[in-house]
Amino acid sequence: MEIKFFDTKEKKKTVFKPIDLKEIKLYVCGPTVYDRAHIGNARPAVVFDVLFRFLRYNFGKNCVTYVRNFTDIDDKINKQSMDTGRSIKSITDETIKWYKQDMLQLNVLEPSKSPRATEFVGAMIKQISILINNKNAYQDDTGHVLFSTRSFPDYGLLSHRKLDEMNFGSRVAVSDNKRDPLDFILWKPSDEKTPGWDSPWGRGRPGWHIECSAMIHELLGESFDIHGGGIDLVFPHHENEIAQSCCSYPKGGFANIWMHNGFLQIEGEKMAKSSGNFFTVQDLIQMGVNGEVIRMVLMLTHYRQPLDWTRQRVSDASKVLNKWRLLCAGKRASKSPASSVLAALADDLNTPKAFAELHELASAGNYSELLSSAQFLGLMEQDLNEALPTIQLSDFETKKIKSLLRKRFEAKKVKDFVTADQIRKKIERVGIILQDKSDKTEWSLSPNFNRKKMKDL
Ligand code: AMP
Ligand code: ZN
Repeated sequence: MEIKFFDTKEKKKTVFKPIDLKEIKLYVCGPTVYDRAHIGNARPAVVFDVLFRFLRYNFGKNCVTYVRNFTDIDDKINKQSMDTGRSIKSITDETIKWYKQDMLQLNVLEPSKSPRATEFVGAMIKQISILINNKNAYQDDTGHVLFSTRSFPDYGLLSHRKLDEMNFGSRVAVSDNKRDPLDFILWKPSDEKTPGWDSPWGRGRPGWHIECSAMIHELLGESFDIHGGGIDLVFPHHENEIAQSCCSYPKGGFANIWMHNGFLQIEGEKMAKSSGNFFTVQDLIQMGVNGEVIRMVLMLTHYRQPLDWTRQRVSDASKVLNKWRLLCAGKRASKSPASSVLAALADDLNTPKAFAELHELASAGNYSELLSSAQFLGLMEQDLNEALPTIQLSDFETKKIKSLLRKRFEAKKVKDFVTADQIRKKIERVGIILQDKSDKTEWSLSPNFNRKKMKDL
């Protein structure tokens, strides 16, 4: 099967040709760990998890090395520590623990390696020294070390920008003593209150970009297959990673293919704490949205497109998953996912097309391939019989549901579809699945069944 991915640098889909079939190497920029992951942060985690699963299936489970780092050196973490009086270590340890728990709920597999930046400061210092020796970097008189951007002629090829049109972002503190406004920070001095490491340039800490370059070199080498991350990272972060890595290790080509996920917004608006449309993964789970439903909504839009997170989409995904669960209950998953689903993923991870194929399988009654394909995408992974609640409803509860269903039936008979619909929604909110047959309505408890909500009926 020919596999194609869209390469940000080439601006087109290119055939994926692994450097070494025995070890496919993938690096994705991971979270900065100072607060709970929001639903936007979950998008790259799920997108590149689908890629990881797909590569493992095609090239062998043990032939894919997936590295996703934790950025645990960053001025946002330092600020959090200053504001709360907590130690940096306790903030980053706790946030990493939360992140891992959240990703588990979304069925995101553990990457092969999850390095923390703090474990690689020695490698960062080494790489900065090489850059200074090669005259790609210099130390200014305030103790900052800066990368000399114009010393790398290919700068801007990834983001398709010309050097003179560039304006550097805010994420790395700017030094006033730059030789050129385009130069960016590799190392900055730390005062006593700020974390720092001893280096040839005094006690200080690395800039954000060099963290990834150094971890990549240590764990994947000078050339690797795929580099991923959110679209916001293309410039300047990834452009800077390329410049640093290609200047310190000129024989390696750094990343072969660059893949970037589009941004997520909520109900048509940019996610912002100030406007109240901001959710962490935990917020959603606390609100009763199942982790698999979150995962499915994240996969229903193609990874390169902007994703609009809406209540409607959550509800639609939840219904589809419940329906599929019912259809597949008691069925055995086929040995491999459907070839139509694999073909959709081989075409630049086309997950919306893959879901269209799942619907086809459901309509065709091919439940064993429906189940194995859904599981391949990280859904319905639990043993279905285990996932269904073994709750015994009381006679009173059963009577209540049956009486509501009778009312709904009567309403439909007199074409009062508004009332019929209201009753259906009321019952579904409790986590009960309704299936209308020609002469009756069957009902069952979904994995989301919430007994406490029965009192609302
Ligand atoms: P950060 O913790 O800010 O370094 O981000 C971790 C990852 O989440 C990066 O790959 C970002 O590009 C990505 N990311 C952050 N916000 C969003 C969003 N709203 N939509 C999609 N991806 C995002
Ligand atoms: Zn990075």
